[in-house]
Amino acid sequence: MKTLDTLTFDNRFARLGDAFSTEVLPEPLDEPRLVVASPAALALLDLDPTEAESTLFAELFSGHKLWSDAQPRAMVYSGHQFGAYNPRLGDGRGLLLGEVVNEAGEHWDLHLKGAGQTPYSRMGDGRAVLRSSIREFLASEHLHALGIPTSRALCVIGSSTPVYREKRETGAMVMRLAPSHVRFGHFEYFYYTRQHEQLKVLGEHVLACHFPDCLAAEKPWLAMFRTLVERNAELIARWQAYGFCHGVMNTDNMSILGITFDYGPYAFLDDFDANHICNHSDDSGRYSFSNQVPIAHWNLAALAQALTPFVEVDDLRECLGLFLPLYQAQWLDLMRRRLGFTQAEDGDEALVQALLKLMQGSAVDYTQFFRRLGDQEVDAALARLREDFIDLAGFDAWGAQYKARTAREGEDQDARRARMHGLNPCYILRNYLAQRAIEAAEQGDYEEVRRLHAVLSRPFDEQPGMEAYAERPPEWGRHLEISCSS
Ligand code: AMP
Ligand code: MG
Ligand code: MG
Repeated sequence: MKTLDTLTFDNRFARLGDAFSTEVLPEPLDEPRLVVASPAALALLDLDPTEAESTLFAELFSGHKLWSDAQPRAMVYSGHQFGAYNPRLGDGRGLLLGEVVNEAGEHWDLHLKGAGQTPYSRMGDGRAVLRSSIREFLASEHLHALGIPTSRALCVIGSSTPVYREKRETGAMVMRLAPSHVRFGHFEYFYYTRQHEQLKVLGEHVLACHFPDCLAAEKPWLAMFRTLVERNAELIARWQAYGFCHGVMNTDNMSILGITFDYGPYAFLDDFDANHICNHSDDSGRYSFSNQVPIAHWNLAALAQALTPFVEVDDLRECLGLFLPLYQAQWLDLMRRRLGFTQAEDGDEALVQALLKLMQGSAVDYTQFFRRLGDQEVDAALARLREDFIDLAGFDAWGAQYKARTAREGEDQDARRARMHGLNPCYILRNYLAQRAIEAAEQGDYEEVRRLHAVLSRPFDEQPGMEAYAERPPEWGRHLEISCSS
């Protein structure tokens, strides 16, 4: 085990130099206090959960103290925002404090979000409000628990520092952990500014640190891109299978590791709606739920463009062509398993699509549907689920097919239930649950955030006394408007 003052740093990205990041000291928050910490994320740094209760912890993660081996830096990047190229973005309010090497030899970036202004802040104040910090924290740790690759969150530190958005709020910092904070937009920045030497340094850094297996390939850069296509196909398949809507899939929010990154106005679907737009500022629905698949492909193409100085266009094009079929196969596999099937059959895709079509326009809770489907044997489960569908005849026809399909799996209900419950969460991070926790936290009561975090860290386990957290949203919670303001 380690303690806060014995962490080992190895700041590989900082060593790339001033072309890649700028030294900036964090601007401390007033009266820092621990809002919530993740024991699972603390363990990644070999820290005991009790470390979070110390004064030093709140001081370190609110910018008051810094390890002597830390090298806080703001990274430069650019990116395509809502389809338009923005030549200069960068860490406008987050700082890469350094890279901690844990006892397993893994490097974890410590990235402090909300740490004050940097050369990349543009018009922004460099701050993050408590509300958005809690949202990032909860989602990071929950997606991880669901088995969806993601950046992690160590803690949220709240404060009395006023921060002005639509109204007066208070500042907070979230400590984000990830093996890398390099985004697609880092590559785009060096490509579009024609700094190909730096682009090469960046690519070689990412290859050496994060894609060591690709170094052995005949064309390492191409192998890295291919791996990224594969990882994105798998990632987006998981988002779509679990109803996760990211909300701002700009290329500066796409991780070079192929993990979920930069949480803003995200949402998990309550009622299934393929066209759901979770970002209130996304007028055209560019980042609607179903658009996430073509947009991920578009983003990979934007990255491919930035790699053209080092990879042949035909090779990149061929890899890009793999995305949709890979996505489709991964998604179908997950949906098949969510329905309780272990073997593949030809009609499975049609069965899944027919179900989603029936759900669309009905009032079917996406998470509850799968959980309840596995909870009882088929007839009883279907009878219980039926009432939420509008097209009852359609649902009955689907149910008959589903029953026949399940019978061909030929096994007992206990095994089916255990398998489905291991895959279909009971609890999901619904916007109304986050909202309730945020409102309490804004009043200085952190119990609800902590409880919600604990429940969502074990999303597949029914937790006695926590039944209410599996409920559909109340009326007020169905139409929450979450925008980019954070
Ligand atoms: P996002 O919409 O969170 O992906 O952020 C897009 C860009 O705006 C990034 O360069 C951020 O660092 C920057 N940014 C967002 N909010 C702020 C803020 N309050 N102050 C400074 N920069 C910000
Ligand atoms: Mg961002
Ligand atoms: Mg953001």
